[in-house]
Amino acid sequence: MTAETHDPTPTSSSIPRNPGRLDLGMRATLVFPNREIVERYYVPLIYTACRTCYSELAPDDIFERAVDGRITPEKQRELIGRVIESGHGSTIEHVVFTFAITGVSRTLSHQLVRHRVGVAFDQQSQRYVSYKKGASTMLPATIAEADPQLRHQYEEQVEGALELYSELLEAGVPGEDARFVFPNATRTNLVMTANLRALIHMSGLRLCTMAQWEIRRLFQLIRHEVFAVSPFLGSFLAPKCVPLGYCDEAANRDEHCPIRPHKDRVLAAWADRAGRTRSDHPGTGET
Ligand SMILES: Cc1cc2nc3c(=O)[nH]c(=O)nc-3n(C[C@H](O)[C@H](O)[C@H](O)COP(=O)(O)OP(=O)(O)OC[C@H]3O[C@@H](n4cnc5c(N)ncnc54)[C@H](O)[C@@H]3O)c2cc1C
Repeated sequence: MTAETHDPTPTSSSIPRNPGRLDLGMRATLVFPNREIVERYYVPLIYTACRTCYSELAPDDIFERAVDGRITPEKQRELIGRVIESGHGSTIEHVVFTFAITGVSRTLSHQLVRHRVGVAFDQQSQRYVSYKKGASTMLPATIAEADPQLRHQYEEQVEGALELYSELLEAGVPGEDARFVFPNATRTNLVMTANLRALIHMSGLRLCTMAQWEIRRLFQLIRHEVFAVSPFLGSFLAPKCVPLGYCDEAANRDEHCPIRPHKDRVLAAWADRAGRTRSDHPGTGET
């Protein structure tokens, strides 16, 4: 079974344990931009994109005024916040964030690279890197804490695969073929650059408690990094239900995740209210 699944059938009535409490040996480091660049240029750049739509001024004039402080940072943030909340997403495609991601499993990277729009990836090659000392692997907490016999079997399987990989290399099999024995647990490194719109979209999906634990942890780290350079921009990285105001995940119809009410309940409340309005004011409905 793959790590993520569209299966909307609830399999658990509790939120998976917050992976943030575990040291998984993975890292996400924001390598570009730093705080100064974000404050001095990114926020003015986004402001310029937003303001251009409603101004007679040329965009370069707006940018200059924003950078030199004639338009205060508070005023800039206020407009940007309103525009983002209204869903005018092209305004935040002008700025990008680059992360060095290390020690994540191939299970995670397979999910990550499914994102296609506004994001670029470069990943460590299993063809050109030959793992002389064996590749390192990820041990999920549920297996670490499982029946010791099962954990032992898991470790034996994974180590066995890596030993076979080394034997194949020694026998002259090229790395590009020997790697076929690698398990999904094999760790990998990537560089990921995403524009802010893509990053908010990806965070919306991957910070959701329905997302797989490892990728959720990655996006918690990513959010932490963006917060460190800009609490304002970082605040937009949230589970998708936060800006939506409701949860649209079929597997959360029982509302075991309490962040926002499920959409079914919101629509039922709406229908109920609309029904009461109609009976209080007959003849105002559609004919
Ligand atoms: C909880 C969870 C479970 C999942 N389970 C599965 C699974 O079982 N099997 C599986 O294969 N995948 C699964 N996925 C992956 C999922 O289907 C998406 O491929 C992945 O999340 C990328 O999302 P996206 O397409 O919105 O993102 P992006 O590729 O980043 O696209 C961003 C947005 O651009 C627009 N867009 C992009 N491409 C197009 C296009 N070609 N046409 C029109 N609009 C476009 C869409 O609005 C899209 O939301 C799962 C994801 C999650 C979060």
